[in-house]
Amino acid sequence: MGPTHRLLGACAGLAWAAELHLGPAQAGVGIGLAALTSAGATSPDVDQAWLWRRGDRLLPDEVLGNGGPMQHRGLTHWWGLPLAAAVATYLLLPPAAWWAAGAALAGWVSHLAGDLVFGRPDGARGPGVPTAPWWGHVGLGLDVDGWLERLVVQRVVLPVLLGWQTLQAFGLGTPLWHRLGDAITVARGR
Ligand SMILES: [Zn+2]
Repeated sequence: MGPTHRLLGACAGLAWAAELHLGPAQAGVGIGLAALTSAGATSPDVDQAWLWRRGDRLLPDEVLGNGGPMQHRGLTHWWGLPLAAAVATYLLLPPAAWWAAGAALAGWVSHLAGDLVFGRPDGARGPGVPTAPWWGHVGLGLDVDGWLERLVVQRVVLPVLLGWQTLQAFGLGTPLWHRLGDAITVARGR
């Protein structure tokens, strides 16, 4: 579900940029950062990268129980990590860097939100994402690559959301919405 994750990440980055009233250049970088940390080896799915999988096979992390922290959707998919990163950002990074770190975190968290909805149980673990560091999974367990994810969310819901957010960022969304409402009222009146 890579493309779905990336779209969701872009939406999260745009929302973050709008929240902070970032200028166009910073907003562009922020959306790029969020898209980067929302899918693939630079996201929680680093646990599916070749090197990570190889490490998981070599290291006996399974002795820690519940399939071990290195399993797919294990420790990297735990909400505590981005929370710790947010606290570390606040304490360690200068305020001038918060917008960029926040954008990267927004992308990371958007991945967890996507996995909370999509993804079935796999071996020892349940659906969704862990509530405890790598166990206690909760999630809706909807099919990855199912029609809802591929056709509805990826092709319709997220593109429409992204388009709406973009219009809003340029201050065009609400006026257009009102125009549409007026046009419908006029059409009905005829
Ligand atoms: Zn994932």
